[in-house]
Amino acid sequence: MPRKRIGLLGGTFDPIHVGHLALASAAQLALALDEVRFIPTGHSWQKHGASTAGEHRLAMTRLAVGDTPGWSVDTRELDREGATYTVETLRELREALGPEPSLVLLLGSDQMRNLATWHRYRELLRYAHIAATQRGPHRLAEFDPLVEVLVATHGRDALPDEPAGSIVFFRMPPVPVSATALREALARGERPAELLPPPVLDYIDRHHLYQDRPATR
Ligand code: ATP
Repeated sequence: MPRKRIGLLGGTFDPIHVGHLALASAAQLALALDEVRFIPTGHSWQKHGASTAGEHRLAMTRLAVGDTPGWSVDTRELDREGATYTVETLRELREALGPEPSLVLLLGSDQMRNLATWHRYRELLRYAHIAATQRGPHRLAEFDPLVEVLVATHGRDALPDEPAGSIVFFRMPPVPVSATALREALARGERPAELLPPPVLDYIDRHHLYQDRPATR
């Protein structure tokens, strides 16, 4: 039996948009993932300003994921009190899923660039692989020197048959959208229907989200 590969896509998902879904699909194909778990963040220590209530972000994430085969939503970060640290989430997941499966943390290049600012970032690779992809103008070549060192040590051409410990890169067609730009567009009264899954846009309409407050980050 081949080792199961589980992709993990954490995000504020405020709101979840077509860029997130494209990232999950591209990763699933490129890395032969059996599953992708979407993990809405709880209180993110890196994003300043209040984000939309967790219950709304979770509901939108569930709607976007729908019944797509292999996709699911993991609520553990929302269920946790206090700050969200990815390394803790990975440790918990590893404990829950056992030593066998490959866990693959999926990141856009904006996140990969900042990796060295994450809490106990080197430990991430104890619990999972990291797979990063190009996102917008954040070139994969322009990493922090500490991230360069990590990539030089752990970078591989393809995911090895191991549960954790490697960094790989995969390609996806660019999807130029960010949640920040979407919140701003919605606050201006626009309806960016092509950038949001239809049930998510319906949910935003029904709950009057993002409509009359300045966008937050
Ligand atoms: P914000 O604008 O509020 O910072 P965001 O659009 O970056 O939000 P997040 O929820 O922070 O969304 O992103 C979660 C993950 O998805 C990150 O790893 C991020 O790099 C990746 N991601 C987000 N949008 C895209 C996109 N358009 N293309 C590729 N990856 C993306």
